[in-house]
Amino acid sequence: MSRSGRRSRAAKALGRSATPRREGTAKTPGEIDAMAASGAVLARVHDTLAKEIAPGVTTGRLDEIAEQLIRDAGGVPSFKGYQGFPGSICPSRNDEVVHAIPGDIVLADGDVLSLDCGVTLDGWVSDSARSYAVGAVTDEARRLIDVTRESLARGIAACVAGNRIGDIGAAVQAEVEAAGFSVVESLVGHGVGRTMHEPPQVPNYGTAGTGPELFEGLVIAIEPMVNVGGPDITLGPDGWTITSADGSLSAHWEHTVAVTAAGPRILTLAAGG
Ligand code: MG
Ligand code: MG
Repeated sequence: MSRSGRRSRAAKALGRSATPRREGTAKTPGEIDAMAASGAVLARVHDTLAKEIAPGVTTGRLDEIAEQLIRDAGGVPSFKGYQGFPGSICPSRNDEVVHAIPGDIVLADGDVLSLDCGVTLDGWVSDSARSYAVGAVTDEARRLIDVTRESLARGIAACVAGNRIGDIGAAVQAEVEAAGFSVVESLVGHGVGRTMHEPPQVPNYGTAGTGPELFEGLVIAIEPMVNVGGPDITLGPDGWTITSADGSLSAHWEHTVAVTAAGPRILTLAAGG
């Protein structure tokens, strides 16, 4: 899940100072290993759901599979009950950006489906999202999914001790805007740990060299949300589902990443991956 961010672009101007500030707490190497164990369960959920996605499948069925896998692994679905959210996954389709509720919606050929999920294992949260083509999609939809995934990779590459939060956002934004798409600015990534949302906020836009400093032991969820059209979003009548304001297609990729002495460590990969 993403969190609400500062809506003001003025936030971009903040943080350029001689002594970079830090937000969030450092996890020990042992704690990061525990978060990677949580993330491995989450990766298995995503890998399993990827094989189930097809025209005719309901988002509610995907939710059941995810919850069962998480509980069988001894974990708890982090999203279920979070501020009253009823599901274990957020299956957001087409113009839905994030936070859609699973149910009797039937996947159709040509849909773009973003699946966001969180796992709490031994008290440690992991958070990750992937976007998929359902059946045969348009070239533009395929490009949107690929560009969003690549923008996440660029953001992760900037996740190095001594860098700033703005280096991540700038890397994501450059990739997205070079493709002619828009980053959603009013929802952001976040620190992760014992709870799903911790400092710092991790915007998908920004200016390199600005913002809080990245330091060893910091764990953050980087999660570009990308619209084909404009960046504006709308909250739906269910109080959860967020759509692109102009109805354009949207995609979402997310990994939970630790800043380590050896560079960025993605925690939401399959064990051994
Ligand atoms: Mg998420
Ligand atoms: Mg998140």
